[in-house]
Amino acid sequence: MFSCSQPVTGSGETALSQHNDTAVAKHIEAGNDYHSFSNPDEITVTHLDLALTADFEQKQLKGRATLDIVRQQAGADTLVLDTRDLNINSVTVNGQSVDYSLGASDANLGTPLSISLPANAKQVTVNYHTSPEASGVQWLTPAQTAGKQHPFLFTQAQAIHARSFIPLQDSPQVRITYDANIKTPANLLAVMSASNNPHTERDGDYSFSMPQPIPSYLIALAIGDLQFQAMGDRTGVYAEPALLKAAAAEFEDTESMLELTEEKYGPYRWDRYDLLILPPSFPFGGMENPRLSFITPTVIAGDKSLVSLIAHELAHSWSGNTVTNATWRDLWLNEGFTTYLTYRIMEMLYGPDRYNMEAVLGYQSLQSDIDALPEADQKLAIDLRGRNADEVFSDIPYEKGALMLREIEQKIGREAFDKFLLNYFEHFAFESITTDVFLTYLDKTLLKDYPEKLSRARIEQWIFQPGLPEGAPEPQSDAFSDIDEVRQRWLTDKRDANEIDTTLWTTHEWLYFLNNLPDSLPAQKLEELDNAFSLTQSQNNEIAHSWLMIAVKNEYKPAYDRLYKYLVNIGRNKLVKPLYRELAKTPQGKKLATKAFNEAKAGYHPLTIKANEGFIND
Ligand SMILES: [Zn+2]
Repeated sequence: MFSCSQPVTGSGETALSQHNDTAVAKHIEAGNDYHSFSNPDEITVTHLDLALTADFEQKQLKGRATLDIVRQQAGADTLVLDTRDLNINSVTVNGQSVDYSLGASDANLGTPLSISLPANAKQVTVNYHTSPEASGVQWLTPAQTAGKQHPFLFTQAQAIHARSFIPLQDSPQVRITYDANIKTPANLLAVMSASNNPHTERDGDYSFSMPQPIPSYLIALAIGDLQFQAMGDRTGVYAEPALLKAAAAEFEDTESMLELTEEKYGPYRWDRYDLLILPPSFPFGGMENPRLSFITPTVIAGDKSLVSLIAHELAHSWSGNTVTNATWRDLWLNEGFTTYLTYRIMEMLYGPDRYNMEAVLGYQSLQSDIDALPEADQKLAIDLRGRNADEVFSDIPYEKGALMLREIEQKIGREAFDKFLLNYFEHFAFESITTDVFLTYLDKTLLKDYPEKLSRARIEQWIFQPGLPEGAPEPQSDAFSDIDEVRQRWLTDKRDANEIDTTLWTTHEWLYFLNNLPDSLPAQKLEELDNAFSLTQSQNNEIAHSWLMIAVKNEYKPAYDRLYKYLVNIGRNKLVKPLYRELAKTPQGKKLATKAFNEAKAGYHPLTIKANEGFIND
């Protein structure tokens, strides 16, 4: 996923304080998934056959899930699945009903479904339908889409929301293959994280197959008025007609990214790599659903300045989808490696200046998360027991993880580290591993080969201690040093805003210029800047975000119309949450936040609602 810097928590500050002291004191059992009720050590699900009909009137997916099972322990007779808000109609084995029961519900984990298995049962079918409030499914009205004509549906299973639309063993250490048949209104197209045929007949009846074993959080479905445009032999884009051309142009380097990554880190193992452009309510930047990354439209900037998101989701095809975190504590194995690869892909494609600028921006974002998070949440191997699994998403697993890998690279040399990565992806292909398994692998490889350059103590400090170890790499950018100088001259009135030559500035320079302005600025300075560069009207959503943050901090009213529209039209949590949080600091701001939130709510994803409702008046 690409969410960076905005942990999805209840009301921001309070949700992190739910630590139970006795639970924290107890030792974490490595590899134990504290976010699943399922029992794969007794009985493992290996394949899913899904048949669902999308009912847009009722906002329900209705049908059945048939699970192939393998007994790990002879005599195991109860299969435990994860569910959340599912309505179970019946459970059958070989067409015969079997006993089942739903256990007590847990706010974070949902409800366990225990199924009594006859001896020799090899397959179980659960007949069910989802609830309209399913946490992993968003139903959009036509008005909430780009085209305004047809409804839209998309799922978001990571971290543990697959259980809200499929009863299964919802743990990343269980890998399954799947087949699916999805029925939709006849004029809509369904796509999944599986084999998609871009030229399939549009008849409301679609079949899919995912032959590689994947963790449940990578199961994904979208339905809408979607069209396809090829970008290369193996790459293409699905989008609503209104967005298709712009998206295909913005992301036209995707095929090159794929080829460059393969050259360095080994073969792409998933056949096609397509992008799906979602409506603006998609709560994240992107989601690495295999073969079909789900992408926010907010990165279509017209100048490819925000395509590191695509590099990120593509990189997950290696780190995350091929080698997977076994539990959510180990998420940094997914996101840290992926963030590291993202920087490297951007450098291969666009050169070292861009690499350095993006690394500095990532580092600054990491520093502000370290300042904001409690120490326990600054560890790569985070303790999430008793907590909402979505709380793992901060810059820590992403940028801190990447920085640790960057340090190893700097110590042993880039060539040696690339070779290590190539072998690592090969060694653990299609496995789900823990932090501890990674450390054991490191013992046998780099720590053995480079004892004078690397130490286990240092690696453990990175993984198990808060903050950054002393002497951690600090990314530098020459381009940004120039921006510091320009900013300083403007702030000290040595230069007018309209004398600043920004003709060669990219989005990165703008973000660095804006993000490092002082919190408090006189209205006249803001007006001067806005007049010179029309920042309030910026069509780049990241630049607009940075500018609107400044506007809110300084109550710069000329930007408030745009601010309101921005909050109402965008549901990407990384972009809206900091604005809500800042607005909530004053009664006036809170009033505006409440008005915007209430207008936007119908179009926001459940995760965006949950992350921001604490900032508004009830
Ligand atoms: Zn990611």
